[in-house]
Amino acid sequence: MGTINGATLMARNLKQQGVDYMFGIIGFPVQGIASAAQKEGITYIGMRNEQSASYAAHAAAYLTGRPQACLVVSGPGVIHAFAGLANAQQNCWPMILIGGASPTYQNGMGAFQEERQVELAAPYCKYAQGVGDVARIPYYVEQAIRTSLFGRPGPVYLDMPDNIIRGEVDEKDLVHAATVGEPPRSQANPEDIEAALSALESAERPLVIVGKGMGWSRAENEVREFIERTQLPFLASPMGKGILPDDDPLSVGAARSTALREADVVFLMGARLNWIMHFGLPPRFAPDVRVVQLDICAEEIGTNVSAHVALVGDGKAITAQLNRALDNRQWFYPAEAPWRAKLKQKAADNLEAVKPMTEDESTPMNYYRAYRDIEEWLPENAIIIGEGANTMDIGRTQMANRSPRSRLDAGTYGTMGIGMGFAIAAAVVNPDQPIVSVQGDSAFGFSGMEIETMCRYGLPIKMIVLNNGGIGGGVAQLREDKPNPPFALTPGAHYEGIMEAMGGKGFYVEDPADLRGALIEAMAYDGPALVNVVIHPKAGRKPQEFGWLTT
Ligand code: ADP
Ligand code: MG
Repeated sequence: MGTINGATLMARNLKQQGVDYMFGIIGFPVQGIASAAQKEGITYIGMRNEQSASYAAHAAAYLTGRPQACLVVSGPGVIHAFAGLANAQQNCWPMILIGGASPTYQNGMGAFQEERQVELAAPYCKYAQGVGDVARIPYYVEQAIRTSLFGRPGPVYLDMPDNIIRGEVDEKDLVHAATVGEPPRSQANPEDIEAALSALESAERPLVIVGKGMGWSRAENEVREFIERTQLPFLASPMGKGILPDDDPLSVGAARSTALREADVVFLMGARLNWIMHFGLPPRFAPDVRVVQLDICAEEIGTNVSAHVALVGDGKAITAQLNRALDNRQWFYPAEAPWRAKLKQKAADNLEAVKPMTEDESTPMNYYRAYRDIEEWLPENAIIIGEGANTMDIGRTQMANRSPRSRLDAGTYGTMGIGMGFAIAAAVVNPDQPIVSVQGDSAFGFSGMEIETMCRYGLPIKMIVLNNGGIGGGVAQLREDKPNPPFALTPGAHYEGIMEAMGGKGFYVEDPADLRGALIEAMAYDGPALVNVVIHPKAGRKPQEFGWLTT
């Protein structure tokens, strides 16, 4: 036996723990880790910006079910990657960030890119640890991966000083770590299972809310069976979309506000009553709503609204428990319930309300008109990435998801700029699935240079930029007589030109009549393509019953 260095040991142990993908930007002192990762069979994707790399790592984790890695250089590299740690923490998604650090023997001396990395990472992490000994790398990797994956998932950080990465240890002195298995799937208390079903049975206006926790838990088959058997109306959270198909007849997504406001019993499955769900409070919810709450995190139970019944444990295991318990009940929610008819009518009214916009052929087009062609064109099995203001909000209602974990967006943290990293992650881990990213012009701009990454790896991502010349609202033209408003971006900017310059295919669409053809051509092209669609600067959503962020 010979010696082994820290870089190889890190890579080998990541691979052992099921890390198959590493997104990063190399430089001092982490170059050796990236090369070792490739040698150990980890797919290394070199990105252009650490934010995107860290976003990609947790999107890949959500899609694969294991933490995936982000590798960055010391100091500024680590700081940039905190964007992804924070986003992963808010979404409850795992990932492991590995940050290079200045050598320990220069601590406090003003070393190159010296920073208090472990301290700074800690608030965004479940676990943040500096590695101070080469031989103990297996121990720290196991602990980090296990902490990231078990319980409520979240990001973890390992700090790798230069002298640890380059340090050598005798292989015979190594203590190998156990391989972290699948996360334990704990069940709920059987009495609570019965209480949950009784609460739903007693409801006049029940509503199931399916969140991304169920997507993470791979609970789709169990949730489908539960909804089929109980016939309960359901609503998906933004990234809960697709766990059950959006076009399922029991989906009341198109009557969302009414469903939330008037439900008397809400079954919250792997979703939180945070801002996305209007805190579960009036006027968006009934003041006396009873909440049945399923969550893996006991501390989450009762946030904003105290739970009538708590089901603490894994979503897949608990839904299977509910399904078994249904065997002893002859109950399902009746087809003729007035609540059903009301929600159906509301959904039909909402569809009617957007019709004039969907059918408006004027140039520049509005969002709904653009989405009409996009939705018709979207392949059934596409993974859809959405970000932007109107682009994301309208896209969520106009693009249907039909399979679990097929929607990635700005998420719980509302992060703009995730799109490029998420799209790259989706394309890398699912090479056989169409990847479609729809971004506003502002959202695209945060990490637009990742187009070079897409082209370099030949990832056949189909990007659509809905370009209204601004952040939120846009401008028709830039002003020369006075300062431009803060929301202004260059109207009609040729973002497709960036794609062409990097070797992909670009399309610029002004006339709605040309959109369909451009989308079809983009899909047929065997590589990355960008369709830049000019949107009217004043185009917006249909009139909303409540203003954005109304509590
Ligand atoms: P959404 O944005 O879809 O509403 P949230 O991220 O707000 O979803 O909530 C997801 C919830 O799912 C979190 O509270 C998290 O603790 C929970 N969760 C995560 N993993 C599991 C699991 N395996 N089983 C059940 N719940 C889970
Ligand atoms: Mg815009």
